Amino acid sequence: MAPTPKGDNVVVSNMKLEKLLCMKGGRGEASYANNSQAQALHARSMLHLLEEALDSVQLNSPDVPFVVVDLGCSSGNNTIYIVDVIVKHMIKRYESSGYYEPPEFTAFFSDLPSNDFNTLFQLLPPLANDHGGRTSMEECLASNGQRSYFAAGVPGSFYRRLFPARSIDVFHSAFSLHWLSQMPEAVLDKRSMAYNKGRVFIHGANESTANAYKKQFQTDLAEFLRARSIEMKRGGSMFLVCLGRTAVDPTDQGGAGLLFGTHFQDAWDDLVQEGLISNEKRDNFNIPVYAPSLQDFKEVVEADGSFAINKLEVFKGGSPLVVSRPDDATEVGRALANSCRSVAGVLVDAHIGDKLSEELFLRVERRGTSHAKELLEQLQFFHIVASLSLA
Ligand code: SAH
Repeated sequence: MAPTPKGDNVVVSNMKLEKLLCMKGGRGEASYANNSQAQALHARSMLHLLEEALDSVQLNSPDVPFVVVDLGCSSGNNTIYIVDVIVKHMIKRYESSGYYEPPEFTAFFSDLPSNDFNTLFQLLPPLANDHGGRTSMEECLASNGQRSYFAAGVPGSFYRRLFPARSIDVFHSAFSLHWLSQMPEAVLDKRSMAYNKGRVFIHGANESTANAYKKQFQTDLAEFLRARSIEMKRGGSMFLVCLGRTAVDPTDQGGAGLLFGTHFQDAWDDLVQEGLISNEKRDNFNIPVYAPSLQDFKEVVEADGSFAINKLEVFKGGSPLVVSRPDDATEVGRALANSCRSVAGVLVDAHIGDKLSEELFLRVERRGTSHAKELLEQLQFFHIVASLSLA
């Protein structure tokens, strides 16, 4: 049977999110590469947890390449920094275990196909030893500004298989798993209880909407774990960080709620009130992000059963706004707009076009400027940190 024609509101949900989603590419003012210092700081504050996870990885014979993957790598320096940390840490472990030579390393940078891989590849430092022969421990460790691994990009959704079975030693993923694979249809369906009327995010939404978001997150995470459980080598390790919340109630999304549920929400309402877009147009836009609680996350890992939990905790991150002059309200407003735009701009552009998107973020900026002080005080992220190995 041919599908029933649906109203305008379902078009977006039918357009596959994974074909569209990416952080803002390039290196311009609102690009992810230029607006991910906060993520960099948060990642650095968790390095001891990452290194702890790496200490549990089983060392292969140095004749076999050691394979590292960063899932949801995006197009900034953060992924390059983290892969470098992982490779250097593993080299030190080989060294202290008495090996004369480290193995060769391969790093796979993986993200959705619309990710700006070009910008990422241009940021990659040159290969430390491209003259043939093996690199010594000392050469690898001293190679600042160079990389001691072979690099490749892998396009595809991490909610499906990306690699051959039992081929990966270390999986890393930071600030990515809170992105849903798609908006749940019910949230965009006017006839459904879960229709998110008047809102663009789960924050403050009704219970049905919240349940639909939560179910999508848990289904997605289950798919993620299933794929990784096949791809990971026995003795390998997986380190995951995503946005999380401390509240039990999913409609209190904490920092993510403040980012997408207050000034960003109000800016959409501004466009409606000024007659620039219809109510419906706003209601059909939803941010496909879900910050899980520890319990939401744990239930999925336990139900899947393929992974042992070495560590699972909520970790206080910090603000997504990095400003040089906190007293300058304009800078704070601009940081808020850029921060929202670098992660959600591509989706907004696709929904209302570049011109209206420009108008929207201008309003986010203005609202941010007039609430600068409270934004700096209240906008704090929490993260779920998970270190898993095969059960
Ligand atoms: N890890 C980087 C970037 C985080 S931004 C850092 O630490 O700074 C989040 C990234 O997750 C984006 O690049 C986005 O495209 C990616 N992402 C979201 N959903 C994804 C999916 N289903 N499969 C692969 N990547 C995804």
